[in-house]
Amino acid sequence: MEIPKIADVVIVGGGVMGASTAYHLALKGCKKVVLLERDPLFGQETTGKCAGGIRYQFATEINIRLSLLSFSMLDRFKEELGQAIDLRRCGYLFLLTREEHVKAFHAIFGLQHNLGVTTEWLKGDEVRSRLPLMRLEDVLGATWNPQDGLVDPNSIVQGYIAGAKRLGATCLTDLGVMNISLKKECIHSVKTRLGEIETPIVVNAAGPWAAQIGTMIGVDIPVVPIRRQIAVTTPIPQLPPHFPFVIDFAKNLYFHREGPGILTGMSNLNEPPSFNQDVDREWELKHFDEAMARIPLLEEVGISSRWAGLYEVTPDAHPILGRVPEVNGFYCINGFSGHGLMHGPICGLLLAEEILDGKAHTLDIASLSLTRFREGKLIQEYNVV
Ligand SMILES: Cc1cc2nc3c(=O)[nH]c(=O)nc-3n(C[C@H](O)[C@H](O)[C@H](O)COP(=O)(O)OP(=O)(O)OC[C@H]3O[C@@H](n4cnc5c(N)ncnc54)[C@H](O)[C@@H]3O)c2cc1C
Repeated sequence: MEIPKIADVVIVGGGVMGASTAYHLALKGCKKVVLLERDPLFGQETTGKCAGGIRYQFATEINIRLSLLSFSMLDRFKEELGQAIDLRRCGYLFLLTREEHVKAFHAIFGLQHNLGVTTEWLKGDEVRSRLPLMRLEDVLGATWNPQDGLVDPNSIVQGYIAGAKRLGATCLTDLGVMNISLKKECIHSVKTRLGEIETPIVVNAAGPWAAQIGTMIGVDIPVVPIRRQIAVTTPIPQLPPHFPFVIDFAKNLYFHREGPGILTGMSNLNEPPSFNQDVDREWELKHFDEAMARIPLLEEVGISSRWAGLYEVTPDAHPILGRVPEVNGFYCINGFSGHGLMHGPICGLLLAEEILDGKAHTLDIASLSLTRFREGKLIQEYNVV
């Protein structure tokens, strides 16, 4: 395989972030965009292992604004890129069982409304009458947004990769970036098994491996990999067609319809950082106990598939987006902390603006800069699952 010898931008990683960045750079007229993915296929790591949820229901202004902008791009996706993405507005329902969560969600609810996100507040009895399949005696209330929903991750990646290629970008698989060279604190080239590519700009879109890319040039990127796992059940004929994305907030437990069955996950908050992607059977038993306590019907069904993937987690559960001041030509789109699929479309556009126009202008992304960690300007997200 021949690889380009020079590029205007090299993107490391072909998940949703790399794919969206490649497409938006090419769309804005960048000529020599090269995306390098080390796996045999694009989008098979965190992006391909995610639950597919999209939601407006966040607790910080920046995350809500990212959702508002991204969702209008998802609405136009098929028209713009010719790729269907199986967008389903089934709604997200956050179940609240503790007084302190009810209080916090009231404040979040106010912020969402101020930004034009019309999440609804449901009382305990309303929640119970909407979800008769679930055991919900302890639920005090819930927030509900019927505009939240689901999308197919693989279609988003394929749509952006195909779109980028049509616009002249080179997107290659089976080609990992082994090293990055600097000249006088500026990006100079990337090394692959097939040779070097000279480039003034590198985009770190390596998901859970983002810190390793930073290490290549001595930049500390505070992103750690944390295992999260999912199981999908065999068909459940009693499941209503519009069963929503339900999150038991106190338990970090979630459910949504996946084909004729249910997809469920439960985050282990004691999971240590590592690149281990084996399913943890002990945790799975705990997860299923909690899941069956909420949906007793699960006792009667089997598991059709299970897998583990890696969240790419930052200390404040917000992404790192934009230029890295220490190294000229180095940019990050990392650390989406378990909710990056939904923000991939807008973040790829914002990074393309930052690179080509000098500054992202569709949205101010200064608060997402890498420098916030050393300046102590963290922006904690409460709604993390
Ligand atoms: C179980 C689970 C459930 C989730 N649920 C949701 C959800 O419901 N909604 C949501 O919005 N988000 C969800 N997420 C989070 C979301 O999947 C991620 O935030 C998002 O996919 C991150 O995309 P990425 O492109 O940064 O990373 P990735 O998809 O991991 O892409 C990074 C790519 O970089 C490649 N790479 C690494 N190193 C190199 C190298 N040296 N050279 C070349 N390539 C390299 C990797 O092979 C990989 O393909 C979930 C994640 C998990 C694990």
